[in-house]
Amino acid sequence: MRMQDKVALVTGSSVGIGEAIAKRFAKEGAKVAINYKSNDEGANRVVTEITDAGGTAKPFNADVSKVPEIERLVQTVIDEFGRIDVLVNNAGVFRTVPIMETTEEIWDEQLDLNLRGYFFMVKTLVPHFRESGGGKVISISSIAGTGAFPNCPGYCASKGGVVNMTKALAAELGKDNINVNSIAPGNVATPLNAHLRVPGNEDYVKLMETLTPTGIAFMDPDDMTGAAVFLATDDSKMVHGETILVDAGWSVW
Ligand code: NAD
Repeated sequence: MRMQDKVALVTGSSVGIGEAIAKRFAKEGAKVAINYKSNDEGANRVVTEITDAGGTAKPFNADVSKVPEIERLVQTVIDEFGRIDVLVNNAGVFRTVPIMETTEEIWDEQLDLNLRGYFFMVKTLVPHFRESGGGKVISISSIAGTGAFPNCPGYCASKGGVVNMTKALAAELGKDNINVNSIAPGNVATPLNAHLRVPGNEDYVKLMETLTPTGIAFMDPDDMTGAAVFLATDDSKMVHGETILVDAGWSVW
């Protein structure tokens, strides 16, 4: 087990990529804080599945786009588990909306959670990491943050922001033994994009298959967990400000 006795906080981990990372961390021996905004049923299910498998996890409610809730979340997790070693900034929203339909509300929703929230999660944890001798930050960006796609300018801006914020935070926090890194997934089959994988949309899925050299249109959430464990452990001690693409090869072209 590679994360024995570590404490990890995974935001938005009641479903999808966050759920997969939380479960893998628990398998590696970590105690895991399962953050959710409104899906208490999903969070409780993930906690039960982890504890039934012999791991340790607890649910923590907080809207991580809001600074007071972020501060409350971090304090509650530290009170409950005694410390936090690993933060996974995972909670995110994705809106496929062309420029002329992008309202202030749609823009703000994505930037507030996907970028602003990620920053304030790190800021809130820095005093604790400094006091405890270090920490690990893993933010989930996207191939929409290393490249760009039409009809989602707000999402692309938020995820591109994560890539460069990761470098900026690493530049400032490296001397504190804090590793700040990011994972940029390609398409992963989760509730986030379930609307694109519905019957009648087979042509879209076929098109996606042609966009990766592996012919894989949608990866499994578990496919993200190897990179997450790497970035959460000493194996990545000398990796700072990096964004690891886990995209079934999409970006080779
Ligand atoms: P998902 O929609 O399945 O899960 C997102 C989670 O975030 C949910 O649990 C949701 O309840 C939670 N959440 C939403 N708003 C929240 C808030 N304000 N506070 C706390 N939690 C909140 O999405 P996913 O596909 O698992 O995505 C996880 C991350 O990976 C996101 O940041 C997403 O942008 C990124 N990503 C996903 C894909 C993909 O293809 N699925 C690709 C690249 C990047």
